[in-house]
Amino acid sequence: MKTILRILVFMSALSISAQSTYLHCGKLIDTKSGKVLSEKTIVVSGKKIISVENGYITPNNAEDITVDLKSKTVMPGLIDMHVHIEGETNPKSYLEDYTLNDADIAFNSVKYAKVTLMSGFTTVRDLGGSGVNVALRNAINAGKIEGPRIFTAEKALATTGGHADPTNGAKKSIMGNPGPKEGVVNGVEDAKKAVRQRYKNGADLIKITATGGVLSVAKSGENPQFTVEEIKAICDTAKDYGFHVAAHAHGDEGMQRAILGGVKTIEHGTLMSAETMELMKKHDVYLVPTITAGKFVSEKAQIDGYYPEIIVPKALDIGPKIQKMFGRAYKAGVGIAFGTDAAVFYHGDNGKEFGYMVEAGMPAMETIQSATITNAMLLKLDEEIGQIKSGYIADIIAVNENPITTISTMENVTFVMKEGVIYKK
Ligand SMILES: [Zn+2]
Repeated sequence: MKTILRILVFMSALSISAQSTYLHCGKLIDTKSGKVLSEKTIVVSGKKIISVENGYITPNNAEDITVDLKSKTVMPGLIDMHVHIEGETNPKSYLEDYTLNDADIAFNSVKYAKVTLMSGFTTVRDLGGSGVNVALRNAINAGKIEGPRIFTAEKALATTGGHADPTNGAKKSIMGNPGPKEGVVNGVEDAKKAVRQRYKNGADLIKITATGGVLSVAKSGENPQFTVEEIKAICDTAKDYGFHVAAHAHGDEGMQRAILGGVKTIEHGTLMSAETMELMKKHDVYLVPTITAGKFVSEKAQIDGYYPEIIVPKALDIGPKIQKMFGRAYKAGVGIAFGTDAAVFYHGDNGKEFGYMVEAGMPAMETIQSATITNAMLLKLDEEIGQIKSGYIADIIAVNENPITTISTMENVTFVMKEGVIYKK
């Protein structure tokens, strides 16, 4: 009986993997060893990588497909730990808070998701929107639309008047009094409820705004906005649901409170002191640099009227500081998780971050490892994505040049496969 069952299982496995794809890779980045390998064949069947072979192997079956990537450098699909997939910068975006319905946001987000996938990012962590992000994730997972694998915070958690309070800048008659249901927390009980509400709403993780932010309609971009007790309550409650917590932070005091409260990643980290860098290492907290966003806002702030007036001085002050801090944090040995804050700049430009990281002193190979194995580990997916290895999900991309010598090639991804399906060739 057991033998018959085994044969049946084996036969069904064969029929599933009837058609295989053979990728002939001129160069292949082994993210685990940090080496660039030459002349390899990746065999893909269904959603998985079956094997990685030496040389260019020709398939035995007529129905198998061969893809010629002999002139390319191939690597695992990239992971961006900080995007906002629902929206995108434009001079009218502050008005849009009051004019767009969820359906409008949903249609826009379909476009951003596709652009993100086509730029080589097969997985993203979405750090906050209106809740449309949950539906978008589900639609992509169901194969209804094309986009990256999404892990979303749903709505970011703020304190009253803090970065991500949804009614900041509104006149009093429409300001209302948003609470934990809307992602606004004041006190420990609110903190617990806000996390549980995110679970109910379908989030995968929690995002908090530990300090002021550049793009909120509020004066300070760096003041601490949560108490340690509130952050601790959020992180402890998040643990009950298997969520990790990401903390937006520009100012040093807010960053320290977030680390002591138990968050896993610090987003931006602009004014991080040497002392906080040591604290990051001690608590195994990773920095998500978002240099591209910093550069973009400081550039756009010089255009009259692009941002509301209250934002301009913050953008000019904070934006340019991120890259230098990143260089110091990297040298100090802080763990780096690749992330861009796409939406603050145009979706699809995520690959620019690699060049900025290299410019600040991180070797090219390490930037790619950060966007693959490190981020896979932080998402607890290191047994499934981030490497090109037998048994792993077939998320595979290619660029024209060798990024180790020409990092700008990461801005122009020319081949994209996600879960064994080719989206760009
Ligand atoms: Zn962000």
